[in-house]
Amino acid sequence: MTDTFIPLSIPHLAGNEWAYVKKCLDTGWVSSVGSFVTEFEKSVATFTGSPFAVATVNGTAALHIALILSGVKAGDEVIVPTLTFIAPVNAVTYCGARPVFIDCDEFMNLDAAKVVRFCEEECSFDGNNLINKKTGAKIKAVIPVHVFGNPAVLEPLLALREKFGLKIIEDATESLGSTYSTGPLAGKHTGTLGDFGCFSFNGNKIITTGGGGMLVTDKKENAQAAKHLTTQAKSDDLYFEHDVVGYNYRLTNVAAAIGVAQMEQLKGFIATRRANFKKYDEALSGLSQMRLLKEPSYAHSNYWYYALIVDPDGQKSRRDELLSVFKKAQIESRPVWHLNHLQKPYINDTAYHIEKAPWFLERVLNLPCSASITDEQIGRVVEVMKNF
Ligand SMILES: *Cc1c(COP(=O)(O)O)cnc(C)c1O
Repeated sequence: MTDTFIPLSIPHLAGNEWAYVKKCLDTGWVSSVGSFVTEFEKSVATFTGSPFAVATVNGTAALHIALILSGVKAGDEVIVPTLTFIAPVNAVTYCGARPVFIDCDEFMNLDAAKVVRFCEEECSFDGNNLINKKTGAKIKAVIPVHVFGNPAVLEPLLALREKFGLKIIEDATESLGSTYSTGPLAGKHTGTLGDFGCFSFNGNKIITTGGGGMLVTDKKENAQAAKHLTTQAKSDDLYFEHDVVGYNYRLTNVAAAIGVAQMEQLKGFIATRRANFKKYDEALSGLSQMRLLKEPSYAHSNYWYYALIVDPDGQKSRRDELLSVFKKAQIESRPVWHLNHLQKPYINDTAYHIEKAPWFLERVLNLPCSASITDEQIGRVVEVMKNF
């Protein structure tokens, strides 16, 4: 068994998925309406403690709709982290707006202090709008991403919302099951503190529907508007009248059926991922050249992805060497995403004091973290790291 492939993060479909999908097939309710869609929305709303949830075809679509409902329009700017999967940055562009890139903090999340500094020093406030002094554009929103499941520092951003009227759109696509544990946000779930929270159920996420997403909000009118926009903005069902440009961003009942079954197992997935993180962490405790990024002291992570920091005092080449050693051992690992302010479509956009992100860019490797990983497989990964 020692030469079998160990994937990074694969779905674990061990619950009622078959039974619920069969129900869809048996009844013919396979498409974009059906009781599982409603049930899935309710389930995510209840689990996160959000009053309203609207299912979408994927997490990127949820982000796009959240930006539209935040009033982001062509010519506006939106503050985003440079260190994230590119989806939220692209969603800004779908609105005709441009990103403003901010650095990360020690948990690889958006550096809230730098966001505050940027707004206070590089922008002016005219009583209604926050204006980027260099570009003259209105800053409309901020998208903190809860990277790898670690909740981002939000309080300073929520204060900016009060002060400048910025909308806060939480990219919680990686953090279903992550909560704050101390301070004024204690007990709150990621995605429920800003104006909108967006989740993803892509195949590698902590739960999956094959592909899917969800937008959560505490305002009924926002939820209704999101449902409207994601279902082609039909104002009259019978006569096909449409009042605005809508989108076909619906989740199918089949996908939602899988989602309902996955939600039933979510707590177990988180417990397993947390326990496996501990196994890796204990095994690495004697090594000085690698460490795992721990959860922030103020939060409970869902431990979606494990971030190994290779050779903290060394160079990128060591991380890449480990990557290829893993590859030879049939172990899938992955470097962190390339920084977005350096990506081709965004090379000319504002990048504000990016200092910490390049450090992580050179050192981070994600380790296999599937809920179904066995102790024997964890042992193999650990052995490769120890030998390295
Ligand atoms: C997965 C992910 C998304 C988007 O998810 P899709 O469902 O694939 O569209 C957005 N942002 C981040 C940070 C992600 O990791």
